[in-house]
Amino acid sequence: MIREPLIFELSGTGKKAFKLPQLDVPKQEGLLESLPVRQDVEGFPEVSEIEVARHFTRLSQANYCIDIGMYPLGSCTMKYNPKVNEKIAALPGLAGVHPAAAVELIQGNLAIIHDLEDSLKDITGLDAVSLQPSAGAQGELVGMMLIRACLEERGDPRKVVLIPDSAHGTNPSSAHICGYQVQEIKSNEAGTVDLEDLDRVMNEDVAALMVTNPNTLGVFERDICRITELVHSRGGLVYMDGANMNALMGVCRPGDMGVDVIHLNLHKTFSTPHGGGGPGSGPVAVKALLEPYLPVPVITKHESGYGFDFDRPKTIGRVRAFYGNFLVAAKALAYILTLGPEGIKEVAEIAVLNSTYIRKRLEGEYHLQYETPTMHECVFSDKLQKPHGVQNIDIAKRLIDYDVHPPTMSFPLIVPGALMIEPTETESKEDLDRFIEAMLSISREARENPELLKEAPHGSYVRRLDETTAARNPIL
Ligand SMILES: *Cc1c(COP(=O)(O)O)cnc(C)c1O
Repeated sequence: MIREPLIFELSGTGKKAFKLPQLDVPKQEGLLESLPVRQDVEGFPEVSEIEVARHFTRLSQANYCIDIGMYPLGSCTMKYNPKVNEKIAALPGLAGVHPAAAVELIQGNLAIIHDLEDSLKDITGLDAVSLQPSAGAQGELVGMMLIRACLEERGDPRKVVLIPDSAHGTNPSSAHICGYQVQEIKSNEAGTVDLEDLDRVMNEDVAALMVTNPNTLGVFERDICRITELVHSRGGLVYMDGANMNALMGVCRPGDMGVDVIHLNLHKTFSTPHGGGGPGSGPVAVKALLEPYLPVPVITKHESGYGFDFDRPKTIGRVRAFYGNFLVAAKALAYILTLGPEGIKEVAEIAVLNSTYIRKRLEGEYHLQYETPTMHECVFSDKLQKPHGVQNIDIAKRLIDYDVHPPTMSFPLIVPGALMIEPTETESKEDLDRFIEAMLSISREARENPELLKEAPHGSYVRRLDETTAARNPIL
């Protein structure tokens, strides 16, 4: 492996990208000064054009991306997103539209938002949708604000939100930021919500239950209908974290399970790639009882065309500038329309099949804390490798040597040494087998040569980074 130097190290005085012939016309003063040429960097690298091209091309090849291989990151749904959806989002009428353009000029854009809202209503089985939130976590906050607004109007705002111990960290944060006290509920041996425990803690102080389904262990909450009934019967509402909708869509609908409000992650399930910091989109879908509180503006459709409705007395207000991340919505609608209802269902079925295939082939070699059948993801632990001194991080780092992206680690928190694997539906059997073979080979290495794992990765540009210092004290 060649270590790629810094561009500063490639620098040599007087090296230039290009040279032009002698001027044969009068020189124009002041032209270059108006260009954004930085004068203030000491030792600004001086390199030739080919050095620049090669340097950045080599660096780009050191990058991992979905076009190179799979990302088995549990809870992240890092699937391959069809390129056609990017092409559609790049159409000038979509990518070039100004957010302040007059309503008459953006009827087609509003139709996209409106149609996507309709599709998401179908998929979730709920009554109304807002595409405003920019991410899953913001969708959670908006959803909790809707619940608060509704309960306040009933004159019974309540104080507590119940959240299972397997929840994504954003759940308690969102409830807390919305002014609620968070109370954790313990999972049972199946890894699901314990109905008896819920029955014990569900009282008139509880505003809502926030439940993820399938939960972060990949386990479907079989008792979801009884759970929502119980919460409703004592005056609470049910929030479902729908980031894992990839496992359910087209097969069953949260609205039919009694869920009152859900957020979706368009940048997980609906064809926007993510991991690079955005933009994302975390729409909320709600039952009719929460509709009056949705953020403004709401997109309306009349005979005269599409429009914005700001005149909504009970709204929680604006939650972001303009109308949501529009191009993410455009991609999502393109994705939904190119799949159709049957295709959407097939996505969920294959996502579950792929994950189950991995679970069945790796069980025994890697420890499963819960025997319960799983949906789109499965969570192993390092318990069988621990006796050899090998931890989940060693396994994850060693995967890099097999040209495989590591899975999510150490989450959910209820599984010590967790390795959380979500292959998604877009991986072929051959790619799943490659991943499985790598995992099996690593489990052999853990028995026979644990030292090898503890120093992995061996073949990458960088080995083990001090991630804490890199995050707290970045030297840029
Ligand atoms: C990703 C995820 C979220 C948060 O979504 P962001 O868009 O990252 O804010 C919430 N819950 C679950 C289960 C998730 O997987």
